[in-house]
Amino acid sequence: GQHAELDVMRKVEGVAISPRDTVLVDQGMMTGRAGIFAGGDVIGGLMTMTAATGHGKKAARAIDVWLSGGHYEGHEKSPPVDFDMLNLPLFLDAGRSQMSALPPEARSGFVEVVAGISDREARYEADRCLSCGNCFECDNCFAACPEQAVVKLGKGRKYTVDLDLCTGCAVCYDQCPCHAIEMVADVAALSAEAHRPLRFKARP
Ligand code: SF4
Ligand code: SF4
Repeated sequence: GQHAELDVMRKVEGVAISPRDTVLVDQGMMTGRAGIFAGGDVIGGLMTMTAATGHGKKAARAIDVWLSGGHYEGHEKSPPVDFDMLNLPLFLDAGRSQMSALPPEARSGFVEVVAGISDREARYEADRCLSCGNCFECDNCFAACPEQAVVKLGKGRKYTVDLDLCTGCAVCYDQCPCHAIEMVADVAALSAEAHRPLRFKARP
């Protein structure tokens, strides 16, 4: 549809609806009724699947904080990673899928002209994502670390670094395809006869 159906939300006490027929939420996606969160098309904005997915992620963080008795104040955001910051030699070339389309002479009435993509092609397209700034668990840092300082936390849980083993050599940083690792000055080490001027920092 082109418009969110708000009949249910209108009946919920405390939930405010804007003059543009969208549900009003705070920065943690909570409506005017404590404990009820909203996102996606019902709150307006871009009204795309991508934006709705982001709303869901943000709401999940806020719900977690709310259930723990706190109030969501936002979370630390990493600076954007642009194309120049990617380690491109570590990626394969993977061209975009081409959608088949009816030739002009076959187009008539309401017949679909562009066929879309198959499940397989959709998965392939998702795999083309460069994952800029986000760890996708390729294990490069884990395999490359000369000190075995990178510790796997299990599928979907990413990694941590044993800072007692880490020497700050930045090999992991150099091997990360998508700039998911930052090297930051180790203030404590610098002030105490620096032998480890840098330390590993996974992007949040
Ligand atoms: S910076 Fe630390 S974690 Fe990264 S490769 Fe070097 S020793 Fe390993
Ligand atoms: S931090 Fe980078 S190198 Fe390490 S597993 Fe994630 S994407 Fe791969």
